[in-house]
Amino acid sequence: MIPKSFRSATTALVGTLSLAAAGHAFAQAYPDRPVTLVVPFAAGGPTDVVARMMSVPMAKSLGQQVVVENTVGAGGTIAATRVARAKPDGYTIFIHHMGMSTAPALYRKLNFDPLNDYEYVGQVVDVPMTLLARKDFPANTLPELLAYIKANKDKVTLANAGLGAVSHLCGLLFQSAIGVDMTTVPYKGTGPAMTDLLGGQVDLLCDQTTQTVPLIKEGRVKVFGVTVSKRLAALPNVPTLDEQGMKGFEVKVWHGMYAPKGTPAPVLEKINAALRAAMEDPTVKQRMVDLSADIVPPEKMTAAGLKTFLESEIAKWGPVIKKAGVFAD
Ligand code: ASP
Repeated sequence: MIPKSFRSATTALVGTLSLAAAGHAFAQAYPDRPVTLVVPFAAGGPTDVVARMMSVPMAKSLGQQVVVENTVGAGGTIAATRVARAKPDGYTIFIHHMGMSTAPALYRKLNFDPLNDYEYVGQVVDVPMTLLARKDFPANTLPELLAYIKANKDKVTLANAGLGAVSHLCGLLFQSAIGVDMTTVPYKGTGPAMTDLLGGQVDLLCDQTTQTVPLIKEGRVKVFGVTVSKRLAALPNVPTLDEQGMKGFEVKVWHGMYAPKGTPAPVLEKINAALRAAMEDPTVKQRMVDLSADIVPPEKMTAAGLKTFLESEIAKWGPVIKKAGVFAD
């Protein structure tokens, strides 16, 4: 007679093997239906622009449609929570920017853990920001802007995409650099914030070049500077904030792609291959150049490249935000 312990060990082994075989078959068949790419801000804004640009070649690589879903609100944290709770089957993936690294310091309580609730697909693209005003704003240069803000503190409004958005972070650094607190107006993304800036309902906005370059070139907004240390090829006549005396003003918006924790490794590999294919796509590459967005080098487009960088960014922004003393509940 076969001893009972042997029988149960054999059953367990067969169970493990059939699970592994099922996992393998699942990964082989993946994807056999559309994949949802969650974007944490409103349609039409700069993060959405990047996601929609990528979704076309990603779909080609995966052999299935990639459907962009805008899950908006609370500076991107609602979408991050939605993805952390999604089924880890590769049919829900997520693109988010550096807000993933600032949220832990900005929110006293978060419903997701950036370092434990996700699988990491890779970094995507680095995008500079621009400081803008509505077209008919009274100031034309940075010194004029600063003088105007100081004289009209109670009147000037600064739009952002909520606590945790990079427009919020940029505004925070700007206000702290000039020592003035302004009235901020939160939106569900800088897409709708831009609509109001163009309509003259708000005065100022700091936003990524993936939305702002065409508007600056068409003269539909006023620009006061870029938030990186070197001038941009797409906007050679726009000075950096740093060269205008705001020494060390540097916000470069990095983006990462994530999946819920537990997404199988072979599935993640297919998503990563699709991400790489998207960033090799000639149309995507050209549009990124036109918008002064830098596609990251291949070694950053990896799970480890994203996770390590995310850790360092959490460590970098935590003290800066704590010093600024802005928190949400
Ligand atoms: N630019 C936005 C931000 O401030 C988000 C967006 O709408 O893409 O984070």
